[in-house]
Amino acid sequence: MTDVTMEKIVSLAKRRGFIYPGSEIYGGLSGTWDYGPLGVELKNNIKNLWWRMFVQERDDMCGLDAAILMNARAWEASGHVSGFSDPLVECKKCKHRFRSDQVEDKCPECGGHFGEVRQFNMMFKTHAGATEEESSVSYLRPETAGGIFVNFKNIVDSFHPKLPFGIAQIGKAFRNEIAPRDFIFRVREMEQMEIEYFVRPNEWEVAFEEWRQNMHAFNDAVGIPRDAVHELEVPDGERAHYSKRTIDFEFDFPFGRKELYGLAYRTDFDLSAHAKASGAPLSIIDKEGEPPIVPHVIEPSFGVDRTILAILTSAYTEDELGGEPRLYLKFNKAVAPIKAAVFPLLKNKPELVAKAREVYSMLKKQIPQIMWDDNGNIGKRYRRQDEIGTPYCITIDFDTLGEEPELKDTVTIRDRDTGEQERISIDNLLSRIA
Ligand code: ATP
Repeated sequence: MTDVTMEKIVSLAKRRGFIYPGSEIYGGLSGTWDYGPLGVELKNNIKNLWWRMFVQERDDMCGLDAAILMNARAWEASGHVSGFSDPLVECKKCKHRFRSDQVEDKCPECGGHFGEVRQFNMMFKTHAGATEEESSVSYLRPETAGGIFVNFKNIVDSFHPKLPFGIAQIGKAFRNEIAPRDFIFRVREMEQMEIEYFVRPNEWEVAFEEWRQNMHAFNDAVGIPRDAVHELEVPDGERAHYSKRTIDFEFDFPFGRKELYGLAYRTDFDLSAHAKASGAPLSIIDKEGEPPIVPHVIEPSFGVDRTILAILTSAYTEDELGGEPRLYLKFNKAVAPIKAAVFPLLKNKPELVAKAREVYSMLKKQIPQIMWDDNGNIGKRYRRQDEIGTPYCITIDFDTLGEEPELKDTVTIRDRDTGEQERISIDNLLSRIA
C-alpha cells in the first residue's frame, strides 16, 4: 500500500504542471490555486464527463451558464446575505482568526485566549459600476445554484419541460473561507458542478434515491473507488438553512474523512423565496386544467476541485518496476490528461523522428490529448509519463522503419500499470488507445 501524503501530492502536482500556488511569484494568495497545462486537461475531462453523463445523455436535463455576478436581491432572498456565515473567533493576543468549530479553546498559534464568537459572512462583496454606494453592491456567487433558480422561469418559458426535470450548471463559485487549507480542498475560489432537479412535492424521495445512485456512478466513471467514499446522513440542526434532508458524500483524504459532495432536498424553499422577493411566478403547470404548482428540488452538488483531489489521492501509486522504485498516477483512462505519448527512439535520427511525427499527427487528429516527447532517454520519458498518468507510451524504432522487414510499420506500446511492452501494427494503434 502506498503511503499517500499531502506533501507528496502537492509536490507532484507542482513539479509536473498540474496545480501551482496562486500568484506564486508575489508570495501567493491564500485560498487560490492555478491549474497548469495538465491540471486544466484533467479538469476539463472531469467536467466534460459530468456534462455528458448528466446533461447530454439524458432527456430530462438541460444546461445553463449564468453570470457569476448577480443582483444582490437574489442572495437576500435565498438567505445567504443573512445566513451564509461561519463562526469566527479572534485570538486576543496575536489577533489570528479561526473558524471556532475548527479549534479548541486556546489559540493554536500562541496559546492566547479567544474573544467572542461572531458570525462571519463568507460572500465576496463588490460593487458593480463606478459608484461605491449601497445600491451598487453585488456579490460573487457563493454557489452556482443561485443562477439556476433565477433562470427557472426562462427555461420553463423557452422549453416547456414536464416534471421531473433538471437544470445543470458548471462554474466558479467564491467563498471567503476563514481558514483555507488542505491544498485545493478548501479554497476561496472554486468550481462547482450542480444540478437542481425539480420534482412533484410527493415524489422527492424517489428522485433523492436516484441521484444518490447517480453520484456513486459518477465516482465510478472518474475512478474514485467506492470503498473510499462514505455517506453521512446529516442530522437535524446541522443541515443548511434550506435543507430537509442532506447526505454528505465523504472521502478518505490524506488528512481525514471529509466532505467530497453533497446531496440535499431543498424543498420549494428557493423557488418560493425568489418568487416572493422578485414577484415573478416561479411555478409550473403539472396537470392541464389545474393551478400551477411550485416544484420541490433535489440538489446534487459536486466540487470540481475536491473531485480532482480525490482522484489524485486515489491514483497516486508507488511500486517497484524492474527492481527500481517508481511513482505513477493510476488515472482512469477517461480522465487522464494525456492519453498516449509518442517517442522516436533516438532524437538525432531524422528518419526516426519523421516517422514518429507521422504517427503522432495521425493519432492527434483523432485523439487531441496526445503528447510528443523526445527529451532524455527512453527510461526518463517513461518515468515522466508515469508521473503524469499517461496510460500508453508508443515508441518508433528502427524496426518500425523496416530494419526487420516483417516488423515494418509496427511500434512498441507500453502499458503504464504493468510496464509491459508489446509490438503492434500502426494500423491498430488508434483502436487500442480509443
Ligand atoms: P464544507 O462543510 O466542507 O465547508 P459545505 O457543506 O459548505 O462544505 P456545500 O455548500 O455543500 O459545501 O458545497 C457543495 C460542494 O462544493 C461541496 O461538497 C464541495 O465539493 C464544494 N466546496 C464547498 N466549499 C468549498 C471550498 N471552500 N473549496 C473547495 N470546494 C468547496
